[in-house]
Amino acid sequence: MGGPRWLRKVTHWLKHWHRRWRARRGDGRAIPDRLWARVVADLPCLHALDTGELTRLRDLCAAFLARKVFSGAHGLVVDDRMALLVAAQACLPLRHRGLTALAWYDDFVGIVLHPDEMIAPRRTHDAAGVVHEYDETLAGEAMQGGPIVLAWPRVLGAAPGAAGIGHNLVIHEFAHAIDLHGKPLGQPADGCPLLPAGFLGLSAAAARQRWHTVLSEAHATHRQRVALHERFGAPPPWLDAYGAESPAEFFAVTCEAYCVDRERLAEAHAEWVALLDAFFARPTASGNTP
Ligand SMILES: [Zn+2]
Repeated sequence: MGGPRWLRKVTHWLKHWHRRWRARRGDGRAIPDRLWARVVADLPCLHALDTGELTRLRDLCAAFLARKVFSGAHGLVVDDRMALLVAAQACLPLRHRGLTALAWYDDFVGIVLHPDEMIAPRRTHDAAGVVHEYDETLAGEAMQGGPIVLAWPRVLGAAPGAAGIGHNLVIHEFAHAIDLHGKPLGQPADGCPLLPAGFLGLSAAAARQRWHTVLSEAHATHRQRVALHERFGAPPPWLDAYGAESPAEFFAVTCEAYCVDRERLAEAHAEWVALLDAFFARPTASGNTP
């Protein structure tokens, strides 16, 4: 590179500032082409997206990265590629709703990557009042007010060589964040997120009721399928059995499956997928958003 040293410095600073300015405006060009291409290639869940969807996703990622602060635990250094791998998966469910949907992630700023899975000490009381203490192995965790915590190897687990089909840790934890968004402090995730105004053309109360009914039915069906498999040796459901745990986990697990293989999920839970289509504003065959 030619030119005096001070000029190179000023040019470098201007490019940096310009990139930040673009990112804050949700302009995907803030993300360097080569980095974006590499991350898209690394994430099979993005391979079926068309050009328009990829452009919208890149814009979302730029705005997401401008709003979030990444840190690494236990000396893990988080570079641009790692942050973008998280951003691309976190923003994937929002691609049809666009930048305004990033408000679903406004309740927290921090995202912490751990070098490995985490051991969390747990303490519970059973019905008889007996205290149980145990360690739980966690790949990720979302809590009210943040941060979102992710085990870095599992973020990469969604890249080539991933074991589970239909699984995606990042989408799972960010689905919990969507669920928690707007809930009063201390109220746990329950699978019933804040619904967009005018959802399905219903009043807010009717929309909530509809969501609750369809969620309860789909969750009950999944629990039954998991029980039939575990107790009577029926074939296992394709959907992660962990979704049987609670409506909140069913929502998170089905958001993963919805983004990774919507058609397969629809075979098992058609009515629930129709609701997710509306929630994530998936365009209908006629090109309109529901
Ligand atoms: Zn979960």
